[in-house]
Amino acid sequence: MSEQRRVEVAGTSVSCEHYIGGGRVGSDATFEDRSPIDWSWKLADIARGDRETAAAAVAAAEGAASAWGALTAAERATHLHRLADAIDGRVEQIAAVECADMGMLERSLRARVIARGAANLRNYADLAAEHEEPVWSSKGTANRVIRQPAGPAVIITPWNAPWMLATWKLAPALAAGNPVILKPAEWSPLSASLLADLADEVELPAGVLNVVQGIGEEVGAELVSDPRVRRISFTGSPEAARHIGVAAARNLVPFTAELGGKGPFVVFEDADIDAAAKKAAGQYDDAGQVCLAGTRLLVQASVVDEFLEAFHRYADEQVLGDPREDATTISPLIHPTHLERVEGFVDRARAAGDRVVRGGRRAEVDGAREGLWFEPTLIEPASNDHEVVQHEIFGPVLTLQTFGSEDEAVELANATDYGLSGIVYTGSRERAERVGRGVRAGTVWVNTFLVRDLTAPFGGMGISGIGREGGRYALEFHADLQTLQILEGSVE
Ligand code: NAD
Repeated sequence: MSEQRRVEVAGTSVSCEHYIGGGRVGSDATFEDRSPIDWSWKLADIARGDRETAAAAVAAAEGAASAWGALTAAERATHLHRLADAIDGRVEQIAAVECADMGMLERSLRARVIARGAANLRNYADLAAEHEEPVWSSKGTANRVIRQPAGPAVIITPWNAPWMLATWKLAPALAAGNPVILKPAEWSPLSASLLADLADEVELPAGVLNVVQGIGEEVGAELVSDPRVRRISFTGSPEAARHIGVAAARNLVPFTAELGGKGPFVVFEDADIDAAAKKAAGQYDDAGQVCLAGTRLLVQASVVDEFLEAFHRYADEQVLGDPREDATTISPLIHPTHLERVEGFVDRARAAGDRVVRGGRRAEVDGAREGLWFEPTLIEPASNDHEVVQHEIFGPVLTLQTFGSEDEAVELANATDYGLSGIVYTGSRERAERVGRGVRAGTVWVNTFLVRDLTAPFGGMGISGIGREGGRYALEFHADLQTLQILEGSVE
């Protein structure tokens, strides 16, 4: 690998350049990457890709496509397992870099998130290799369905779970035989760069994984507009998805979009109220920067006092602090602009007559010079139509509303344009089935949260997304399915 600019972050060397065609490539322009742990901590000047960068990355992927696509799924699986092993050997380093870059709690990165990236790669390597082509006889012909690699895939990820989402999206694309151009978000670009180093180390063939750094509206827009790209897999905001969807439509390229959420967290009087309140207070985790979070607490009026007493008790236990420390449960927000955005929602809610019953302000944390923490906040909205209920805030801000009947609960749960996730607490199996099916969301959890099986479909309804990822759903997205029909008795 041709060495260019590298910096040391949390004891690990990270490249500031793109990774294209198996080598590091720079850009004249750069953008600054700072740490949310302390905004005065500058991490790196990262290469800011442009039209030429995008074109070079797509050309590299296109150049690698026929050889990578011609390998058997089992041969590709060998490469993916090697990459997974390399990840498992570097969990501590990747976790420390991701924590510095994004501010997610280091202990959960170390314990779960980084290794899950390796699990994603293994899971898809094996799933693709296990695939059997359906075969049947019909109208005198032998029929087979063949998954053919579609070609270069662009993967665009948001800042809030950079490592998890990059590996989650990369694994099915590579396993299906598509070379990838990965563009991470400009607010948390570092872990994608580490992934490129690992791909290089395990000698993934040149051009099979390319990492392009830069701004969404610049190099991101160039990548998704390139007609040589055959699949686009995006996770981020509905606003950016609309632009990318237009580019995909121009080139008639299939596109999946995993977008924002405003999940309902519904608590019925027959539930374990203490367990529900504990999980509800846990929606502040990662400072609420979680697309799947149940941010609208909908509680049956008959148990709201009991629920709130327990909720405040658990919320009081939350510790705002440095995400590198084990005692911390609430990390800082990613960026000053985002902090202002979150604060703006709360200020406008106050002005609109909503009642802020907990938190609602920026918080100071000892030792941080320029901290980006916001207090865990609970708001009782004056109306379901208010912005604080209808828009994704993506910070530690929950709303509380009450309901009387089950029908009213389902109606409130569905009364936004989003449909990514829902959480329901109830002690009744019948109600779990009824309400679970009644909530319009891609994933509904009953009496639990965030437990996921990698083979299950994942995606959003409404403005929360288009298409499904996960398991065979993502493999089929990345394939061009072909029906091959041969007249029976016509060939030896
Ligand atoms: P964003 O849409 O601003 O950016 C996401 C990515 O898209 C970034 O890499 C950005 O550079 C790129 N981008 C922006 N405009 C682009 C354009 N015109 N063309 C090409 N690329 C472009 O989102 P964000 O602020 O980084 O992330 C937060 C959002 O992501 C929230 O809405 C959150 O709910 C959502 N999210 C969804 C899921 C899910 O699985 N559904 C998971 C995590 C985050």
